[in-house]
Amino acid sequence: MTRLLEGKASAAAIRDDTAAAAHRLRDAGVVPSLALVLATADESAAWYTRAIARAGEKVGVEVWIERLADDASADEIRSALRKLSAGPSVHGIILQAPLPPGVDGVEVAADIAPEKDVDGANPLSLGRLTAGLPAFAPATAAAVMRLLDDQGVALSGRHAVVVGRSLVVGKPVAMLLLARNATVTICHSRTVDLPTVTSQADVLVAAVGRPRMLGAEHVKPGAVVIDVGTTPDDDGTLVGDVDADAVMGRAEAVTPVPGGVGPVTTALLLHSTVAAASALQDAWRARGAPGPRVSWGPTARAP
Ligand code: NAP
Repeated sequence: MTRLLEGKASAAAIRDDTAAAAHRLRDAGVVPSLALVLATADESAAWYTRAIARAGEKVGVEVWIERLADDASADEIRSALRKLSAGPSVHGIILQAPLPPGVDGVEVAADIAPEKDVDGANPLSLGRLTAGLPAFAPATAAAVMRLLDDQGVALSGRHAVVVGRSLVVGKPVAMLLLARNATVTICHSRTVDLPTVTSQADVLVAAVGRPRMLGAEHVKPGAVVIDVGTTPDDDGTLVGDVDADAVMGRAEAVTPVPGGVGPVTTALLLHSTVAAASALQDAWRARGAPGPRVSWGPTARAP
């Protein structure tokens, strides 16, 4: 019998924590605030930013959208990010994809202050995460780990296979799994004989964006399968990378799409914004006096 690893309960617990911490900050005169930088007319990006704004309202995080022109240049985007990074009332910054043609997301994200980089987009954040230093992980990667932890999935010494090597999901997930002492394999579009590799996984993370590309032959009996993929089908319904029907009865557990990683990701973005607001507030208080350094969030250091 395959368990469905739904994200609902994890997301609700994160929201409760976030709301309580946001409340404490507001009582101390700080309104935790998240700026979403949008330079696209893409409908799903607009939908996503509205969803974050609604979710923020429920937990006491102010979300505002910094709308740039659809054809904003890299310099214009960098300048907006620098301004928000320096703004004392901004605690978290997200640069929403897609970006205008010709703009390199990784390069421009280098202008997000690391202590406000709640979606781990600045390459410095991934570098620090890889080095085991405090940094915000991309929220989706952190959501995968949170789901695994909340479901009590053991990682140490187990074989984790990640399909996908993007900077937003595949690579950071692999680093976080490695930090938890999993033996990690990363697959990508040039991997030869994918089913042979993935079917060795105790924990399989799919982050490709190809609807139902992983079937029974890709999954080891008893594996835990985390499906990050979200591709809208013709009627707008989100479809995962895993053919859930095919792996039912074979996998030990699988996340649904939608309703698995997605809700946890959104909840963690707001949680990280509150953590950033709190760390910035502490740093402000300690300014001028020797005190603790700002901690930016989860580390990838092995326990
Ligand atoms: P991406 O940047 O397009 O990366 C996709 C990765 O999949 C690449 O590394 C690519 O390999 C690999 N790939 C493509 N075809 C493959 C194949 N046939 N076999 C093995 N690997 C293959 O996508 P992404 O941004 O990481 O997103 C991945 C999926 O996650 C998308 O569906 C996205 O919508 C979803 N997503 C979900 C959330 C959430 O909160 N649930 C958040 C972010 C993203 P190469 O590197 O060789 O090209």
